[in-house]
Amino acid sequence: MSAVNNCIFCKIVKKEIPAKLVFENKDCIAFPDINPKAKVHILIVPKEHQEGLSVLKDSDQGFLGRLMVAVPQVAKKMQLDSFRIIINSGKGAGQTVFHLHLHLVSPDGVVA
Ligand code: AMP
Ligand code: ZN
Repeated sequence: MSAVNNCIFCKIVKKEIPAKLVFENKDCIAFPDINPKAKVHILIVPKEHQEGLSVLKDSDQGFLGRLMVAVPQVAKKMQLDSFRIIINSGKGAGQTVFHLHLHLVSPDGVVA
């Protein structure tokens, strides 16, 4: 897997920084956001470093598809009846970590 120096999410993927993983498969990990904005607020992070949605190309369809199909699996694990997915793309939209990630937020489910 590609990793970028000083990227906090690459460090979490490599287990150099601890996070309480609620889900992991060969493509991604999921863990609670350190600053939750909802009862359940999970970050779903691909193991491969990509800066954000705006840099993805046609050739990344598989990468993005594998990330998205993890969403219902994480939601099921967290016992969510309904949820919202947010991707902040660019500083102006509130992106602070430049390693693509999905915010899975929900008022339902179990708190990790
Ligand atoms: P964004 O603003 O879309 O780039 O989202 C980055 C998110 O990562 C923010 O909601 C932060 O609270 C969260 N975050 C940053 N560092 C950590 C960490 N070590 N563990 C869990 N969440 C983190
Ligand atoms: Zn990274």
